[in-house]
Amino acid sequence: MVNSNNVVILATGGTIAGTAAHASQAVGYTAAQLGVEQLLAAVPDLGEVAGGGLLTEQVAQLDSKDMDAATWVALARRCVHWLARDDVRALVITHGTDTLEETAWFLQQVLPSGSKPVVLTCAMRPATALLADGPQNLRDAVACAVDAHAAGVLVVAAGQVHGARAVRKLHPYRVDAFSSAEQGVLGWVEEGQVRWQQRPVGAAAGGAAWPGDVANLPDSDWPWVEVVSSHAGCDGCAVDALLAQGVQGLVVAATGNGSLHRALEPALQRALHKRVPVWISTRCGEGQLVAAQGMAAQHASQPRPVDLPPFKARISLQLELLAQRG
Ligand code: ASP
Repeated sequence: MVNSNNVVILATGGTIAGTAAHASQAVGYTAAQLGVEQLLAAVPDLGEVAGGGLLTEQVAQLDSKDMDAATWVALARRCVHWLARDDVRALVITHGTDTLEETAWFLQQVLPSGSKPVVLTCAMRPATALLADGPQNLRDAVACAVDAHAAGVLVVAAGQVHGARAVRKLHPYRVDAFSSAEQGVLGWVEEGQVRWQQRPVGAAAGGAAWPGDVANLPDSDWPWVEVVSSHAGCDGCAVDALLAQGVQGLVVAATGNGSLHRALEPALQRALHKRVPVWISTRCGEGQLVAAQGMAAQHASQPRPVDLPPFKARISLQLELLAQRG
């Protein structure tokens, strides 16, 4: 019988598909070794959790530290393909943890608003580990994907459900490596059920940065945008070197509430003078920049404060520059 209620598992690699020589190794393994069918085989009742059929596609096979625009575009196109099918109710993407929050934010920005749930999941331990977290995370992600309240791009890891905007990897080793900081988790997956404490806001929350069809996103030649930082002993040399090499956008991981080292400011002004946009984010792990009372409207010749962490802001600036190319 044809199943009209499918969940599609899109695999991209990562530690969830990683293997090590010894079961005791949680570091020093090789990511992206197992195929999607092997990931599914580790969760025998996944079809029951999905409450329908499971379809699979190996979209990529990489360590997500090496994520690139071409893989993002390929993934977004496959998402759009599957989401458009009437017999598909949700997508689950297996991914490495290192850039998971960037991929989640990218997809949130480019997938059509109001689309079916897209849930990313991952693992901090390779599939061969004594305490592999991948199978449980995959099961939880599928349970979340088929929940009636799931919407937009979500991340499920260590029993927690996060939104694409708030989620960040905060720990390099612990199994519960992700946090939504002051926003808090959206909910928890417990015994195959989601207990929501906040409702997901849906796709395109935070503004769809890509106004068009993902088919029109270029596979390569994305605008070159770098993250630079303001710190003790800072100067403008890094910015000037980037400008000399043709950088097309800058995001500054600024101190505190967007403050900049006085030695950095002239270099950023030189960037703006060359029409290279400069966005200001914060190095702080929580909160967002707060404008001073009565502050005048933003002028194009000033760096623009943004309410995203630096590496998500970088993606949004790239998408904005791509959209301006027309
Ligand atoms: N380097 C791995 C990756 O991001 C780390 C992980 O998945 O935990 O693919």
